[in-house]
Amino acid sequence: MPAKAAVTAIQLAIVGLGKIARDQHIPAIAGTAGIELAAIASRNASLDGIAHFRSLGELLEAGTRIDAVALCTPPQVRRAQAAMALAAGKHVMLEKPPGATVGEIRPLLSAAVAAGRTLFATWHSRFAPAVEPARQLLEGRRVTGVRISWKEDVRVWHPGQAWIWQPGGLGVFDPGINALSILTCILPQPLFVTSADLAFPANRDAPIAATLSLSDAEGLPIDAEFDFRQTGPQSWDIHLDTDGGPVILSSGGARLRAGGEQLVDGANAEYAGLYRRFVELAATGGSDADLAPLQLVADAFMLGRRRTVEPFEDAT
Ligand code: NAP
Repeated sequence: MPAKAAVTAIQLAIVGLGKIARDQHIPAIAGTAGIELAAIASRNASLDGIAHFRSLGELLEAGTRIDAVALCTPPQVRRAQAAMALAAGKHVMLEKPPGATVGEIRPLLSAAVAAGRTLFATWHSRFAPAVEPARQLLEGRRVTGVRISWKEDVRVWHPGQAWIWQPGGLGVFDPGINALSILTCILPQPLFVTSADLAFPANRDAPIAATLSLSDAEGLPIDAEFDFRQTGPQSWDIHLDTDGGPVILSSGGARLRAGGEQLVDGANAEYAGLYRRFVELAATGGSDADLAPLQLVADAFMLGRRRTVEPFEDAT
């Protein structure tokens, strides 16, 4: 583990101590030079030995030294928290998706630029080990077709998360946007949605499955299947047909196969990559907020044909 510079390290508060904060943020912060976990702001959860506040407002009022916040709350409440943190002069890391709407991010970016503070809208899947190698491989090829299969069991990965089914929670686009974040990274040209079919459980306000067609200015056919009802093997795969043969990015961007060879089969270090980038950005107060994946999801909602399917209950 890299040595930490205690005096100069960014003092970070996690806001919203839930699944992703515990699973990924805490270990990644502990392993990143230049940043330290100094406080938690969470209504119900706390961490032994770390200063705890019930809300970001309480934390800011207390005057504890904090340079930055990582907002790990659901997307519906993040904009207000980000605005409050930027107004208090803090650097801000946003979990994905960056917000519940596309429009709410631009004022945050303006506030960050005006304050000389960092706004980092993270896309953790872009930091998966095979994504940059795939991007480089595709630079030299013509892509002729793309098929995405992003299918997981919501009861396994999001147990009891009511927010994911509420307006702004995105439903199956919560994982699906990870595929779109990879796609918009490995294909540099602008992409757009041409059709969408959205399956809404009768008792929920967000889709449980979605079928999308996308394209680019040259007419590239891109098909995506997102499904939260997958039991058995889960799939987080992107298959690209190219003039040099098939390229397969699987396991959420951890593995890359092309020319009959496994080119990458890497360990998960997505959040270590995110925190290294956050420390880099905060050194100069620069921002990084690419809205392309969120725009595609918003457009799928705008264009999508809506079907009502059977009600979804968390426990079977
Ligand atoms: P989660 O387990 O529900 O945790 C979110 C935490 O935020 C909750 O534990 C809660 O803590 C706090 N919170 C919930 N509702 C709130 C509200 N209305 N106001 C203020 N705080 C609230 O969710 P998660 O899975 O960690 O996901 C959080 C974000 O991370 C989502 O945007 C998700 O897409 C992203 N993400 C999740 C995963 C994953 O594997 N789960 C992976 C990558 C990214 P308190 O009750 O203590 O306040």
